[in-house]
Amino acid sequence: MQPPLAATASEGVRVYGLSDQDLAIQARARGFADELIPGEVTAELSGGDLPPDVVAGHAKRARELGLAATNMPTELGGGGCSTLQQVLVQEQMGRVTNALGWVASTPPSWLPPVATPYQIEHFVRPAVAGEREECYAITEEGAGSDVAGLEATARRDGASYLLNGVKWHVTSFNTADFAFFQGVLAGGENAGQHAMFLVDLPSPGVRVVRTPAYTHTISHHHPIVEFADVRVPATHLIGAEGDGMSFAYEWFRFERLMVAARCLGAAARLTDEMTTFASERRVSGRPISEFGTVAAMLADSLTELFAARSLVYETARGIDGGIDVKIAHAQCSMAKLYASEMAGRVADRAVQVFGGRGYMRENVAERFFRELRVERIWEGTSEVQRAIIAAQMVKRTPAALA
Ligand SMILES: Cc1cc2nc3c(=O)[nH]c(=O)nc-3n(C[C@H](O)[C@H](O)[C@H](O)COP(=O)(O)OP(=O)(O)OC[C@H]3O[C@@H](n4cnc5c(N)ncnc54)[C@H](O)[C@@H]3O)c2cc1C
Repeated sequence: MQPPLAATASEGVRVYGLSDQDLAIQARARGFADELIPGEVTAELSGGDLPPDVVAGHAKRARELGLAATNMPTELGGGGCSTLQQVLVQEQMGRVTNALGWVASTPPSWLPPVATPYQIEHFVRPAVAGEREECYAITEEGAGSDVAGLEATARRDGASYLLNGVKWHVTSFNTADFAFFQGVLAGGENAGQHAMFLVDLPSPGVRVVRTPAYTHTISHHHPIVEFADVRVPATHLIGAEGDGMSFAYEWFRFERLMVAARCLGAAARLTDEMTTFASERRVSGRPISEFGTVAAMLADSLTELFAARSLVYETARGIDGGIDVKIAHAQCSMAKLYASEMAGRVADRAVQVFGGRGYMRENVAERFFRELRVERIWEGTSEVQRAIIAAQMVKRTPAALA
């Protein structure tokens, strides 16, 4: 693959009004992404895996460059970055396929304000330092879009809780050493409400039912995991009984914006690569970029990327400026909806521009074509995002949201 024609990061982004600090962290992230990209094909052809020492080296380098835990407070060892800067970093990580950019981890930033001192020391600080890794056990076979419909239970038993349920798609369970478990309280004065728990892994009663194969090729698995009478001390309850749903919403808001950011990066990489290819590949003596139908695919891709990037950066700036949380919620849904659908269209066009090469796994367009599909599904499907946006439009007026 030829190096992209793209302008340098600083030339390419002045239009977005980024500060020198923003540009500096963006340039660091871009440089790091460029270091990761050469490992993509090896990972693709090895079921997503790179040698453990290579992965450890990547993770160390992400921390050294200040690209890991950018969303966590500095007093806990995190980067304390603005939302816009977190977006800039995740955008660059999105340029890399096979989830190699996930080493620029984003531990749960909603947790520190509600965590106890014990939880800060046992879970939060080690996660920020890259010594521990979390996974989320929320979705179930019958409850994905409707998180409120969970059936997993948490029953108080003396100084502990007993957790029961079967969770689906538990991303990174194979690498994580603690899980967030959301369940419905069974018994007690808050029966029927949701609660969130921290579960050390492994723990007696936690078992993988099976590990299905998924469309993308990444080292992080998404197994179905059973929790059978898993006993956790009451000190592992996060916040209060009944708080579970509010934590899930906070996580969704953050992660939807970061999904959108990574989709920008994917679309930018694809736009760069297809532009390079279209200018170099000659058919009937002419570069294919001169054929109107190919030119239209290039032009539509960059136009949509520009629109999506403007939306995502503006949403991040609004959050940094203290915008109302409900408005932010709807805007994060708009950002995720538009950026993920845009990236899917760009990937489809990129495959087409590359022709037969675009169908080969060694080609970035082929990999993104498969990998980007899930961005319209996880962290709330496109249909769910539309439902959230429309509900807020009716409640607050369209003008309040955009
Ligand atoms: C690769 C992968 C990794 C994941 N990782 C995790 C994880 O780490 N932890 C975790 O807890 N979950 C995880 N998930 C689960 C993910 O968040 C859900 O799959 C997603 O929210 C959709 O839920 P569902 O699969 O149950 O689909 P369903 O809810 O069954 O939806 C089926 C269809 O109905 C539509 N639909 C549903 N409700 C509405 C509505 N109100 N209006 C209009 N249409 C609607 C959907 O848009 C979809 O088209 C992961 C999923 C995948 C695929």
